Amino acid sequence: MTNNAEQAAEPTSSPRNAEQMIALLRDVFERRGADSYLGEDVTMSQHMLQSAALAAAAGLDDAVVAGALLHDIGHYINDFPESLGATQDRRHQLSGAAILDGWFPQRTVACVRGHVGAKRYLCAIEDGYLHALSDASIESLALQGGPMSPSECDEFAQSEHLEAMLSVRRFDDAGKDPKLQVPTFSAYMPMLEHLVRTQLESPTAATRT
Ligand code: FE
Repeated sequence: MTNNAEQAAEPTSSPRNAEQMIALLRDVFERRGADSYLGEDVTMSQHMLQSAALAAAAGLDDAVVAGALLHDIGHYINDFPESLGATQDRRHQLSGAAILDGWFPQRTVACVRGHVGAKRYLCAIEDGYLHALSDASIESLALQGGPMSPSECDEFAQSEHLEAMLSVRRFDDAGKDPKLQVPTFSAYMPMLEHLVRTQLESPTAATRT
């Protein structure tokens, strides 16, 4: 265990502050991170950590790096308390957004909520995008509704955080390298705590009781 982890708050079933929320996320990474990533050659934690590292290396802002790091957290909806809106098994992008909503900036939440839509959008508008996807990602595309229709594309293109969502999607697609070594979850904890603290202090923060 690292010093960081030793000093961090213990996970709780009902987070009440930034430290506890980050502890909950860290706990999910630690307990579930070794799960395989949906037919890819990397684990879930390798995948999400690689996505975050690629976002950071590309110079994206912290809210987007956090979106990349947490984009698939909705797969673990049952590891989160009902207080985070995780009461039913929904599509993972919506579950993930529900878990983070009110705790993280809307830009982060939008990246999580939009990462599947971004795939469907890019499949529709970008030549070669679909065929460059992994087999598992092409397989899940059908279940996710396939490439967007022209009217769906028009609507998606109006999204406030479109570029951020598309960026996270590209890091999601690239974060599947079994040989790539990247920083651990602990490396992101100060940044995550800062984002959550700032969000909780903002007038638009959701009420958490
Ligand atoms: Fe992913």
